[in-house]
Amino acid sequence: MPDIVIGIDLGTTNSAAAMLDGEEPRLIPNALGEILTPSVVGVDLDGHVVVGRTARELMVTHPDRCTSQFKRKMGIEWKTRLAGLAFTPEELSALVLRSLKQDAEAYLGEPITRAVITVPAYFNDDQRKATLTAGRIAGLKVERILNEPTAAALAYGFRDPGSERVLLIFDLGGGTCDVSVVDVMDGAIEVRASAGEAILGGEDFTRAMAARLLERCGQGFERAELESPKLVSRLIWESETAKRVLSRQGSATVRIPDRSGGIGDDARIETITRDEFGRWTEPLMARVEMPIRRALGDAGLGRGDINEVILVGGATRMPRVVERIASMFPSPPLCGLNPDEVVALGAAVQAGLIARDASVDDIVVTDVAPFSLGIHISKHFGLERRDGYFLPIIHRNTTIPVSRVQKLQTVDPNQTKVTIQLYQGEARRVADNLRLGEFELNGIPLGPAGQELEVRFTYDLNGVLEVEATVSATRQTVTHVVTRYARGMSAADIAKAVKAMQSLKTHPREEAQNRFLLRRAERLFGQLGADARRIIGGLLDGFEEALEQGDPVVIERHRQALKDYLDSQEPSEGDESEETADGPW
Ligand code: AMP
Repeated sequence: MPDIVIGIDLGTTNSAAAMLDGEEPRLIPNALGEILTPSVVGVDLDGHVVVGRTARELMVTHPDRCTSQFKRKMGIEWKTRLAGLAFTPEELSALVLRSLKQDAEAYLGEPITRAVITVPAYFNDDQRKATLTAGRIAGLKVERILNEPTAAALAYGFRDPGSERVLLIFDLGGGTCDVSVVDVMDGAIEVRASAGEAILGGEDFTRAMAARLLERCGQGFERAELESPKLVSRLIWESETAKRVLSRQGSATVRIPDRSGGIGDDARIETITRDEFGRWTEPLMARVEMPIRRALGDAGLGRGDINEVILVGGATRMPRVVERIASMFPSPPLCGLNPDEVVALGAAVQAGLIARDASVDDIVVTDVAPFSLGIHISKHFGLERRDGYFLPIIHRNTTIPVSRVQKLQTVDPNQTKVTIQLYQGEARRVADNLRLGEFELNGIPLGPAGQELEVRFTYDLNGVLEVEATVSATRQTVTHVVTRYARGMSAADIAKAVKAMQSLKTHPREEAQNRFLLRRAERLFGQLGADARRIIGGLLDGFEEALEQGDPVVIERHRQALKDYLDSQEPSEGDESEETADGPW
């Protein structure tokens, strides 16, 4: 079999992997047999690093040992400590990627070293590089960084590439909101425009609910986060459940935890109606419309020109979001593919294109640069010269890959060098845009001001920028690649991170089921009343002893007994259908 390339949706809340299997993209289940792996990392009480559902269970009982939503920190210099170990967002993402890689290897029975990883269209240069770095730390060659809405368009476009239509992809995930306008015709899938909000997603809706509930109880959210993290962690879990219940019925209840995160039989119960939740989250809903307007404006289209509106991302399950989008377009939005899975499926199609799979021969995809790229310049106002202005060289929503040249002139007589300062963004002044780096061009011949220079910007399919500056008179050129790896991480740092990752203690993969069940039992032990606790305690003791002794038959017997009891108290996720799901995630 040729070298497999897998597609990975590295999400804020959940991640998933898929591959092209013959004619169809197929999702790859993880060690627990599930498609979605929560993007949560923790260090358990034995000092082992745990990822996915096991970490999410641990998070409820030991929030100080776990972290989630680190995708929102990608590209930022930030570290978190879990049980004495320090992690950067790239390392945390690498742990999730490694877990997906290992699960795919176990499922497919061969090593996986190449992947396409998706990012929100609106991820900036730093965030994209952080994602490339995470892939590298996880031992993956990242063949392409693909925009999430483009991946969704690929999953939909792939199903019927011949029929000509204009799609608007609306993607509201856990942490980001992205919109793309895409043309599909004769096998070509062409992104016309992308726009987004980097910090707006389903998690904000959950936190808004938790904050309003705390307010009802006379407490401030931020203060509670500092003073009672267990209370907040548990309340967010409860709010997440209620949010999902409100997606299918008119009201939901939330039990308010005590300061230590416990929920006793006498816990205060709050009822929330769908309307109330709608009012609480109105400021978030208003922000959802902005990227739609901008993407349509940039594509030069009106709402009536859109043939299909496609919903992507778990947060588009909220009826109010659907209503809001529906009210903006003549035809109702579509959600034919599972909104949680469609990005991974599209990434698998792109992976197939890279691996030159025969089934995708006829498909061509083009994407756009979601933001403008340019340099710092000075401007003359009469005799006065003012610094700090931004000159875009590649404008936002230009089709990529792209290469553009801009001619410039020196501003001082006998100026022998210039510093080319690179920025990304839409603001007129560089101070309001993202700084990408700088480099010097020397060797400008002595002479009056106005010597000609050329600056060429080349932006590749991964959204990685290369800049070349040339002195026109001498043709002397300096090339600057805005480094492919994360800010603040040199190649040596990455090598160190790879080594550190290899030395982390992790449980053998075969133990995944057992670890997960232990964590789930510990969480329910803390959440249920005295009678249930006594039973869980006894079953846990038996299971732990069986694990200690190592007899597979005995382990299986105890595991099943514990699982059956836990399921009787709370349906396990594997058994739930989407319609009846009650627990969060
Ligand atoms: P994603 O990043 O696409 O996995 O989206 C995850 C987000 O979708 C999280 O914020 C979830 O809370 C949210 N989500 C998933 N299912 C539902 C649902 N049934 N109702 C409301 N939000 C949901």
